[in-house]
Amino acid sequence: MSSPAPVFPGDGLFDLQVNGFAGVDFQQDHVSPAALEHALRGLRAHRTSRILYTLITDRIDALCRRLEHVENLRRRSPLARDTIAGYHLEGPWLLPEPGYHGAHDPALMRAPTVADADRLLAASGGHLRLVTLAPELPGAPEVIAHLVSRGVRVAIGHSNASEPDLDRAISAGLSLCTHLGNAVPARLPRHDNILKRLLARDELTAVFIPDGLHLPPSVLRNFVRAKPRDKVLFTTDCMAAAGAPPGRHTLRHVVTEVGPDGVVREPGKPNFAGSSLTLDRAVDNISRFLGWPLDDASAACSVLVASSLGLHPPPVLASHSTEPEPAGFASTASTALRA
Ligand SMILES: [Zn+2]
Repeated sequence: MSSPAPVFPGDGLFDLQVNGFAGVDFQQDHVSPAALEHALRGLRAHRTSRILYTLITDRIDALCRRLEHVENLRRRSPLARDTIAGYHLEGPWLLPEPGYHGAHDPALMRAPTVADADRLLAASGGHLRLVTLAPELPGAPEVIAHLVSRGVRVAIGHSNASEPDLDRAISAGLSLCTHLGNAVPARLPRHDNILKRLLARDELTAVFIPDGLHLPPSVLRNFVRAKPRDKVLFTTDCMAAAGAPPGRHTLRHVVTEVGPDGVVREPGKPNFAGSSLTLDRAVDNISRFLGWPLDDASAACSVLVASSLGLHPPPVLASHSTEPEPAGFASTASTALRA
């Protein structure tokens, strides 16, 4: 029997926004069992033992279909069950205005309803953990309260909510900010803008993407300083390009290109379309950009993520190589990518 591998800061990381990994796009229908396991093994190779499997804006029917499909895969795969702690829905309840919708299709955005929320909850097998929405949309406070009563955390993102909108949403249970500082227009009014409104709200836990690209290091430092220290988390918001060589990948129907600089863009457009960051690299970046000890950087990418979602901490990865192969699942990349 081999002795356990040494534990080092950053083991057992928890990423709350993973749109795809290692060439596998989670936004596609019918991700194959082998493709899913390939992506999850890739995440584990980057010390990420738990994720929220993230789906972006689409029709409610399509989202329900994908949730039911992944739930089926989870039932058949111990690796998927262990790694996928639940789902994060980022859309379709977002602001469809230029500068705010990002890489999401604004034509598919809509106002939230309790009926749609219930359909998505049912399709997720009760494993919906986080919803990102724009709280200024009609009906949002009622849906936020409904989701929170079902144990789902709700984050603001892709939004231009006013102060009264924020008051109502926080009263209803809004608790997080998704990728704060991104999904906003390149030019904003100097003082009265959504970034300043959100940075001033100590009630809300901010989630940042520490790739040095979505937020330059100096901006990240300023934003983190504006928040209570225990209200800061990090995510990669990564897509299929993460853990894969530079090249073309998809995010739903959007073809993206990743250059050697790691920037994910729609060809010909300036805005980012997800990231190629891995969470182990994120821990190093946080330490470098903010001067945080590695243990603190790791905590904001692991145990604090879990506690903010009301979940148990992610397990420590004692070894990446001795995991038993689940029956019926191939793990080679060539098989996996036949999705
Ligand atoms: Zn987003």
